Amino acid sequence: MKKSISQKIKDFFFSRKCAVCGRIVEAEGRYICEPCLSIFRKKAELRQNGNYYYLFYYESDIKHAIAEMKLENRRHLAVELAELCKEPLFRLIREKNIHLLIPVPVSKKRFRERGFNQVEEFLRELGLPWRSIEKLRDTKHMYELLDEEDRRKNIQDAFSSDLSTDGKNILLVDDIVTTGQTTNEIIKELRKNHRPANIYVFSIALSKVFGKIKHRGDPA
Ligand SMILES: [Zn+2]
Repeated sequence: MKKSISQKIKDFFFSRKCAVCGRIVEAEGRYICEPCLSIFRKKAELRQNGNYYYLFYYESDIKHAIAEMKLENRRHLAVELAELCKEPLFRLIREKNIHLLIPVPVSKKRFRERGFNQVEEFLRELGLPWRSIEKLRDTKHMYELLDEEDRRKNIQDAFSSDLSTDGKNILLVDDIVTTGQTTNEIIKELRKNHRPANIYVFSIALSKVFGKIKHRGDPA
């Protein structure tokens, strides 16, 4: 479809707006302005919660940047997010002696709609090789489901892996981890017919509800 001139102008200005604060970014091919990037650099720190590693809490500024990475004309935001994550992520890979990186997959339907998987774009920018698993069906966004049982059913048996994971240290990679139910389901699938040594998760951001939901029902 041919775009009108006014649409092209709109696209041009939109594509030059900082994904965080909305100010026009002067540097060509950049999507986050320098002041916002330097705030991110200060906040980016490898944090840990069990086997989960992440750099940011999922708050408004990083939320905007990650959400926009999923838009076709903003997919190169992966470059800037990759820059922020590079040093701590490479360190984690070394320390845990990771053999296999697996990005959390999107369904075929979502892949067709979006044209790419933003987590794969992120890994590509980092020059890291990965192996894929399959997401068998489309699922609802976890934040749309308030009930824990609905969330569990939504994602249950949604993934399929034919990777040989015996004895391997695996790092699952996602942009955002909300409740951990998606990654738990993938971990279940990876352990179904194999015995991986360790499975860790790395995400750019982790929701503050993560710990609360994960431990609900645990003995006090
Ligand atoms: Zn900015």
